[in-house]
Amino acid sequence: MTAITSHLQAVNDAIASAMCMAHRSKDSIELLAVSKGVSAVAICEAYQAGQRAFGESYIQEALDKIKLLHDLSIQWHFIGPVQSNKTRAIATHFAWIHSVDRLKIAERLSAQRPASLPPLNVCIQVNVSGEDSKSGVAPGGLVELAQAVASLPQLKLRGLMAIPAPAEGLEAQRIPFFKLHELMRQINTQGLALDTLSMGMTHDFSAAILEGATIVRVGTAIFGERNYGGNQ
Ligand SMILES: *Cc1c(COP(=O)(O)O)cnc(C)c1O
Repeated sequence: MTAITSHLQAVNDAIASAMCMAHRSKDSIELLAVSKGVSAVAICEAYQAGQRAFGESYIQEALDKIKLLHDLSIQWHFIGPVQSNKTRAIATHFAWIHSVDRLKIAERLSAQRPASLPPLNVCIQVNVSGEDSKSGVAPGGLVELAQAVASLPQLKLRGLMAIPAPAEGLEAQRIPFFKLHELMRQINTQGLALDTLSMGMTHDFSAAILEGATIVRVGTAIFGERNYGGNQ
């Protein structure tokens, strides 16, 4: 067994344990393997071990790997910050984007999504910890943005994403995830039907699962430490 295969199995086991503790059924969670900074070979190994959904943060790096791995049935998710001049590549090559935080970006993605593809699945990124440095819409502007995004024809608004400030310990980690879940409930009382909470990474995915995560985004625990400036 390769290291990636055994790490992937350990992550899937830990997810199953957290789902059990949360009294949730196994099929209501998806593991997104975050492969930024990781080679196409490593992605291929994870694929052979059964992983199908991969998340990338930097568009040029992602496009190179998507090209190399085009004959695998990988579902690609874009999870990084979005600049306006990158929306066409995202709209063309990805099944999901988790990091929409303003209407202008959503409008461009909808306009540029090829008609031959199903609508692009979208999560709105929420700045749930209120940190200045983090991207994401402030909770106060969320309902309005969600309603506008939901009306765009080539997008399918699926849910919310957050990257909370790092916290130690399960109880502290649960707080921002609880908040994100509450925000989704609120939006769903306004006539929308979101079904996705993209939350939880290597250090806090168990807490996220206890608070209702439906997608956890895990990189380091699968592929090892990134030796990576991440500036592409
Ligand atoms: C890098 C990244 C992850 C994965 O983080 P790990 O701590 O390596 O699991 C998840 N989500 C986003 C948005 C990321 O940029």
